[in-house]
Amino acid sequence: MYRVECDVAVIGGGPAGLSAAVAAKKEGSGEVLVIERDESIGGILQQCIHPGFGLTYFKEELTGPEYAARFAREAAERGVEFLLNSMVLEIRKEEGEILCVNREHGLTTVHAASIILAMGCRERTRANIMIPGSRPAGVYTAGAAQRLVNRQNQMVGKRVVILGSGDIGMIMARRMILEGAEVLAVIELMDYLAGLTRNKVQCLDDFGIPLYLSHTITKIDGYQRVEGVHFAQVGADKKPIKETERYLECDTLLLSVGLIPENELTRKADIEISPVTNGPKVNQYMQTSAENIFACGNVVHVNDLADNVSVESRRAGAYAARYAMGCLARETKRVENMPGGNVRYLCPQSVSAADEDETVSLYFRVLHPDEKVTIRAKSGDKILASRKAARVNPGEMEHIEIHTKDIEENEVTVEVVKEG
Ligand SMILES: Cc1cc2nc3c(=O)[nH]c(=O)nc-3n(C[C@H](O)[C@H](O)[C@H](O)COP(=O)(O)OP(=O)(O)OC[C@H]3O[C@@H](n4cnc5c(N)ncnc54)[C@H](O)[C@@H]3O)c2cc1C
Repeated sequence: MYRVECDVAVIGGGPAGLSAAVAAKKEGSGEVLVIERDESIGGILQQCIHPGFGLTYFKEELTGPEYAARFAREAAERGVEFLLNSMVLEIRKEEGEILCVNREHGLTTVHAASIILAMGCRERTRANIMIPGSRPAGVYTAGAAQRLVNRQNQMVGKRVVILGSGDIGMIMARRMILEGAEVLAVIELMDYLAGLTRNKVQCLDDFGIPLYLSHTITKIDGYQRVEGVHFAQVGADKKPIKETERYLECDTLLLSVGLIPENELTRKADIEISPVTNGPKVNQYMQTSAENIFACGNVVHVNDLADNVSVESRRAGAYAARYAMGCLARETKRVENMPGGNVRYLCPQSVSAADEDETVSLYFRVLHPDEKVTIRAKSGDKILASRKAARVNPGEMEHIEIHTKDIEENEVTVEVVKEG
């Protein structure tokens, strides 16, 4: 069997994997290898040809491929190696071994002192949300349609309805209009937007596309191809209200109904998974429950902005490199991060406190939208950090910074409370 040795192995060559690989090299790591199943690097960004990337990380507006190219260039300059066309099948954490199948070498094992998981996520499909009706052609996930239109030059339909107000759906609504299609509606089950407000403004409002909040599709019609969809308003119980049902004649339905972190490998390796994020639980070093395995990007929790992914992945890369070099700070106390009022989850889920003081950013999403709130991190009764926010929305990730020296208890809670 073909065998490769390295210091840090990264699974996935998207923005998370590339940023982590560059950071590992910058930290002084020896051999860093990125294993990618695709024939090229860049991950999902290769199909995101719209602008909107890099605004915070590079302070300029880039397209997805441009953003990925910056990291790819730096990775090459710093001597990161790539194993492309290689699908990872298994991680043997005790042995620090990755089993993958490579187009050229067949079954291949990669041995590494530390491993970084950066496999991204996949879209939820019609099967995940069980829409009733027939099974015609013309139902796509928004990301699959994006890949067909942007990378394979294949138009997917002419009269389009979009279910879900996630970012990919809204971005595809605009894309379909620019490609000459008609977009009849974006239909969202919740009474708030699932994606970023800026995408609603730039992709729906600017093109006059109607958004129906608190609505869902009740049935798909069509024999060989989609012919139309029935949709209705939903009540507080999220069940359709029969009397409000309407019909839209269309030939295509795009689904933008959520993402699932790609964690089959993680589960098989018996690494602890958060039931809320469906990603591995990590500490502030992005270290999982297996001390030689780190994780970053959408495989940990779904990020709306590639810029946030790059920042988080830099940490994973730097600390994975330190682990490989045997110089990761020794943990003196473990602190659990707990979601308080109106917080769905926190990432990292724990803080590994060492002797030296550290600033740690706790990322989170709220459960429901609110305005004029205070975001507060507490340890017992002690307030570690507090800031006001004019508006919070489940579609937009928030964060608050704490200092490890301030933590007195074994628990930190973050809450979002209405200003009194
Ligand atoms: C349609 C869309 C539009 C977006 N628009 C914006 C935007 O305008 N601005 C912005 O900032 N962000 C945007 N984002 C978000 C951003 O692109 C993502 O947050 C980011 O790409 C996540 O990076 P990642 O590396 O974690 O995952 P990915 O980019 O998905 O990369 C994961 C990589 O891992 C590889 N992989 C998975 N499993 C294996 C395996 N078993 N073996 C080998 N390789 C494997 C995959 O092939 C892939 O290359 C958008 C995302 C999408 C989907």
